[in-house]
Amino acid sequence: MMQWEPVIGLEVHVQLMTNSKLFSGASITYGAQANRQACPISIALPGVLPVMNIEAARLAVRFGLAIGAKVEKRSVFERKNYFYPDLPKGYQISQYKHPIVSGGRLTIATGSGEKAVGITRAHLEEDAGKSVHENFHGMTGIDLNRAGTPLLEIVSNPDMRSAEEAVAYLKKLHALVRYFEVSDGNMQEGSFRCDANVSIRPKGNEDFGTRTELKNINSFRFVEKAINFEIERQIDVLEDGGAIIQETRLYDSERNETRSMRSKEDAQDYRYFPDPDLPEMILDDEFIERVRDSLPESPDQRKSRYEREFSLPSPDAEKLLRDRDTADFFERVCKRSKSDPKTVANWINGELAALLNERHIEIADSPVDSDRFAALMDRMADNTLSRKMAKDVLAHLATSPKTGQSSAEVNLKTSVDDIIESRGFKQITDSSEIERLVEEVLDASAPQVQQYREGNQKVFGYLMGQVMKTADGKADPGQVNRILRNRLE
Ligand code: ADP
Ligand code: MG
Repeated sequence: MMQWEPVIGLEVHVQLMTNSKLFSGASITYGAQANRQACPISIALPGVLPVMNIEAARLAVRFGLAIGAKVEKRSVFERKNYFYPDLPKGYQISQYKHPIVSGGRLTIATGSGEKAVGITRAHLEEDAGKSVHENFHGMTGIDLNRAGTPLLEIVSNPDMRSAEEAVAYLKKLHALVRYFEVSDGNMQEGSFRCDANVSIRPKGNEDFGTRTELKNINSFRFVEKAINFEIERQIDVLEDGGAIIQETRLYDSERNETRSMRSKEDAQDYRYFPDPDLPEMILDDEFIERVRDSLPESPDQRKSRYEREFSLPSPDAEKLLRDRDTADFFERVCKRSKSDPKTVANWINGELAALLNERHIEIADSPVDSDRFAALMDRMADNTLSRKMAKDVLAHLATSPKTGQSSAEVNLKTSVDDIIESRGFKQITDSSEIERLVEEVLDASAPQVQQYREGNQKVFGYLMGQVMKTADGKADPGQVNRILRNRLE
């Protein structure tokens, strides 16, 4: 049996976080009434002229610097000519020969260690409008609100060798554009869209096979499924003695299959040429340096710092860096709390994440802010609260209103202590009291004590449970364990 190796390259369209369109001041707010944001530029009225939105260039440069790419000081807008009802101009303004960003790389984690995926280029272009089919019986509506929305198309090298690697790359890219506030990455609203180019070749071969391009894959899960389906399909075709046709295929998530859409158009079909309405875009050093100065510490740098400064294991650091707000929250808590960072990370990635998830809240809107979370960590560190109690207090914190927003720290800390006080959450740490509880249980459990002394180790757990029960769950479990063991020995 022939061994096949998949080859995958991705083209991702990222919607830039600007307030207005790429070549006009019209709004790009999502969900507006159809065509309310279709300005004269968007609908291509005769005589109108595009004016470049500098904010889009700034975000593209930001992305380029974030991935260590070359930011081109000179880039050129060209017309990509084609007909479609959602494109009234008859051409899309894009960058072709001279993109704003070229080169660069993203590092992904794979089964066999880290791997760098090259980024060929990233170029600015405008989005098209949208065909609308609902409520148009036998007809199609056209909504041009989206026409002219600024996109950054990010093209990878054909460096990925499995669907899993493709998904890892996409997730990394998604986290990165959000982290650097280049895009909100909202996939439901189409702010992060992916086309996957897939080919296969006999393992060991240098040359690439003919590729197909998969469109319409709008979730990480579908990317994986679509690519895997396509790999299998290509293997079947080649093993039956057929040939792969270079074409564009549509992924149907309901049937989990890809279908031929159209044969792949060549670049020459688009008759690209520099847009005579737009001058070349020249960025000066000062502009680029200003963007560089505004960049936050990168997720990779931050991750190594967490491993170094806080002695966090790599997976914990990775989880905290799933988004910038979570990492910021972690650092604020560590600054305020005396608790050890590993415990703080565990609680943010565990209990707090679960609580927020359950209620569909972003950490930036967490009902438990970093100050109160820090106070909670401190009460666990000084043994006032057991883990179990801390969980309960966290649940109470999440429902009780924030107190004293103004003189923040003092009042917020009081509020954790308030809950501890008013709900009687205080852990019993006084050893003489724990000794008393242990005695009480041992007196009432003569048969079990007998069994333990005859060598039945399992009874220890039972006795431990009885002490905790007698203490209403409030005794410090570490001490109960130690005192009970001493008494039995
Ligand atoms: P086009 O402009 O026609 O879309 P490009 O050469 O720019 O073509 O490539 C588009 C994408 O296809 C890139 O992400 C690239 O990595 C990928 N690609 C190119 N050749 C192959 C191949 N043989 N197999 C898989 N992916 C490929
Ligand atoms: Mg392409």
